[in-house]
Amino acid sequence: MKPIPVASTSRCGTVMLVGAGPGDPDLLTLKAVRAIRCATVLLVDDLVGEGVLRYARRSTRIVHVGKRGGCHSTPQAFIQQLMLREAQSGERVVRLKGGDPFVFGRGGEEAEYLRAHGVEVEVVNGITSGLAAATALQVPLTHREHAHGVILVTGHAKQGESGLHWPTLAAAAAQGLTLVIYMSVATAAQVQSGLLPSLSASTPVAVVQHASLPQQRHAVGVLGELVTLIAQHQLGSPAIILIGDVLAGLQQMAGATAQIHAA
Ligand code: SAH
Repeated sequence: MKPIPVASTSRCGTVMLVGAGPGDPDLLTLKAVRAIRCATVLLVDDLVGEGVLRYARRSTRIVHVGKRGGCHSTPQAFIQQLMLREAQSGERVVRLKGGDPFVFGRGGEEAEYLRAHGVEVEVVNGITSGLAAATALQVPLTHREHAHGVILVTGHAKQGESGLHWPTLAAAAAQGLTLVIYMSVATAAQVQSGLLPSLSASTPVAVVQHASLPQQRHAVGVLGELVTLIAQHQLGSPAIILIGDVLAGLQQMAGATAQIHAA
């Protein structure tokens, strides 16, 4: 694709990077709804729930820019150039991203690119799916007695990178930090084997797929059985893996339910 020339600020429009939340349209912020209503062009990621789009005007051009939209090769560069081109031609561009734009959403890269080309950028928070996953199970991510903090990590490292330092994460989790792992169902075996030497196999885990949506599913178990749990319940992407003692109550409930069913 031909590079797009850098335009002067005065010729540029504004782009809003808006968090669409985990999928349930009721979890959109008012600010996000207002932005969607005002957009003339909406550039939509795959993980944005369809229900969210009902706030767009009929005249708004909706462009699906995820894999579903056919952007298989270098999608990020393509999307950035598209945002820039639309903004420069005077459109009110809203880039709708699943969850929060600044949590594994590449919002940082997009904002940098646009600003470098003289385009104003405004970012609107969304509820990140890690939070929604915990709330889907009605568990807190922090708790005065069980968890003093939270670590958000991705289980999917950039190609060529060695990935996370699992022993450090295991040590943090053992100290009482809840782990919230994005993009990790496919790499669950690495999560399990990476954490296990330093974290007890009986540490509670939960996997939540499609948090907040009608098709939401989840499984609760222990770290030593994470891979089996995912396979047994046939859980797939998009899902969040939660690890830590805040889930202990759930595990007991799941055990009790299993016993009732077995009786
Ligand atoms: N910016 C997004 C994350 C994008 S990375 C956010 O803040 O949520 C994509 C990953 O997010 C998926 O692989 C999955 O791990 C997670 N994810 C997104 N939507 C989800 C949902 N409704 N339920 C569970 N996980 C979800």
